[in-house]
Amino acid sequence: MQIYKFGGGSLIDPKSIEQAIKIVNNIHNEPTLIVISAFAKTTNALENILLLARDNQDFSNDLLNLKKFHENIASYFFNNLDHPVFSDINQCFQQLEHALYNYKNWEYDIHYDATISYGEILSTTILHYIFDSFHIPNVLLDARDIIITDTQHRDAIINWDLTNKMIDEKVKPLLQNNNLFLTQGFIGRSIDGYVSTLGREGSDFSAAIFANCLDAKAITIWKDVPGIFNANPKLFKNAVLLHHIDYKEAFTLAYYGATVLHPKTIKPLQSKKIKLFVKDFYNPTLDGTLIDDITSDDEHIPSLIIKSDQVLISIAPKNLLSLNENDLSLIFYTFADLNIRINLMQLDAFNFYVCINNDIAKLPILINKLNESFNTDLTYNLSLVTITYYDKSNFDVLKNSKIFIEQINDNVKQCLVDRINL
Ligand code: ASP
Ligand code: MG
Repeated sequence: MQIYKFGGGSLIDPKSIEQAIKIVNNIHNEPTLIVISAFAKTTNALENILLLARDNQDFSNDLLNLKKFHENIASYFFNNLDHPVFSDINQCFQQLEHALYNYKNWEYDIHYDATISYGEILSTTILHYIFDSFHIPNVLLDARDIIITDTQHRDAIINWDLTNKMIDEKVKPLLQNNNLFLTQGFIGRSIDGYVSTLGREGSDFSAAIFANCLDAKAITIWKDVPGIFNANPKLFKNAVLLHHIDYKEAFTLAYYGATVLHPKTIKPLQSKKIKLFVKDFYNPTLDGTLIDDITSDDEHIPSLIIKSDQVLISIAPKNLLSLNENDLSLIFYTFADLNIRINLMQLDAFNFYVCINNDIAKLPILINKLNESFNTDLTYNLSLVTITYYDKSNFDVLKNSKIFIEQINDNVKQCLVDRINL
């Protein structure tokens, strides 16, 4: 058994779907489950529509454009408008519109999952029909019946026992008579029955969950780049491809923000020693990057990771001069309660500094809570630069940047800066 994952960066139009078909046609007899994300920028488009809906603004045009985008892809492959793909797309958009209007009073995170998940439902529904039309028999599995999570919506935690049970009951029996399966990445269902999602770009993680539960031999993530580089190859011409790295190195890169892999992807693979390939969607015969538990020379190549749109929050006491342990405990509790990840932090005599992603939904809530007990000051539009094996690195991106906070640990150097020298 092997797992493939096609992401929204690869599946952007009919031509790219033809490329996916070529890749699938090259599978020889190996039972394969393909995990699929929403097409192109659909998830971003849905997020915008949701914000409009919750703000009681008119979103009909945006919704119509998104519908046309999906219909155009389908009509490239099907010229008969009576084909069921069109009624399925229509039905999805009706359900989506209903959810946008009628669940506005729901908590944001639950409403988010109930609506944003349609991106993956649409892409898999359409691909299922397209594969059929190319005589590629396939079974479409609904991840909402299989991937079971807790109720931490928008960033749900997997319930491994129930997910394994669902895979045993709903997927394994189908393996005897079928060779190809499609399912959605990113989405699942919470134990109380609502649709849940696993965090932005979470489809890689979905692929790893299926790989773990199905004891797959390998997983291949097909990307619009030839593999994992030591810096973003779209920004840095001298970036080098990492041919072979171990799980720990891959996790390090993902943890610090290399967008090529979701950080949660590694653990389910490492625990069962499942190989992970990151390969070029348009050049499938190239080797790409292999990640397993064998260390190699690639491991000590310095890497550069840039996380943009960071916010620095300085937190100071209201009356006292300096923060005490109880203050710190309250600060950490506030972040944990809102499930906000801290990317970098620092304490000095007067302030506690925290760097986080600019989450427009959570940031105002966080600041209101903190302001009940502390004084806060915010700096926006910063970038967090991480360099691994920095002593050997010759990346020169910090020239003329103002450094707000920095940290050196082990082989890793991190700086929060106002600008990057590209
Ligand atoms: N479609 C989701 C997103 O864009 C999940 C994914 O692409 O992995 O975040
Ligand atoms: Mg996506």
